[in-house]
Amino acid sequence: MSIAENLSEIRAEIAAACEKAGRDASEVKLMAVSKTHPPQMLAEAYRAGQTLFGENKVQEWEHKRDQLHSLIGEEVAKVEMHLIGNLQSNKANKAAWAFSGIDAVDSVKVAAKLNSVSAQSGLVLPVLIEVKLSEEETKHGLPEYALSGVLREILEFDGIEVRGFMTVPAFTEDVEGARPYFKKLREIRDAMRSEFHGDLALPELSMGMSHDFAVAIEEGSTCVRIGTGIFGSRG
Ligand SMILES: *Cc1c(COP(=O)(O)O)cnc(C)c1O
Repeated sequence: MSIAENLSEIRAEIAAACEKAGRDASEVKLMAVSKTHPPQMLAEAYRAGQTLFGENKVQEWEHKRDQLHSLIGEEVAKVEMHLIGNLQSNKANKAAWAFSGIDAVDSVKVAAKLNSVSAQSGLVLPVLIEVKLSEEETKHGLPEYALSGVLREILEFDGIEVRGFMTVPAFTEDVEGARPYFKKLREIRDAMRSEFHGDLALPELSMGMSHDFAVAIEEGSTCVRIGTGIFGSRG
């Protein structure tokens, strides 16, 4: 199957999951996760109408962006690339310039750096806070107990806007195993929304990947991050 075919299949599955959950399909964005895949494949997805993408490394996108520019020309400016991988504070400057959104912020330190770059450009950078709900050592993100304090500090930064939360659940063979994590993230969002009412609307919940996005949509996801389902395996 071509990338265009994969995309239309995933879009249909998103629509079906929305229908099942009684949600409007326009509430759920599809992010194409292109990490490790060559720029030719991003170009193919872009030509099939995909504009929202995710990469997990700052430098990988910097390299690919130049190559993508030679493939699709000035339209590269229309590619909305988000960083979905852990960001170290020493790379925050570069990241703030290279990405349209940072979806895995997990410290005040990183947020402060993003804010100072963004403030210079006069733009407001949208960010998501990554929440760690799984006990797995390899997972990044803030624990639930730290969220309220961190949000309170980040609210002071005018150069970034916290749009919501993202999470990566512990891997389970059965997709139903992911449901409690998705439900938990939504409950946390609702709790933070009432705690910061008026200051933070927190409309975005980035959750769900190739194998479990339908469940994530049922639990309120507004952005599903699909890699394998669009581009095939990462080898
Ligand atoms: C790689 C990655 C994805 C995509 O995973 P697939 O299973 O290939 O769909 C989604 N989210 C994050 C944070 C990733 O690193």
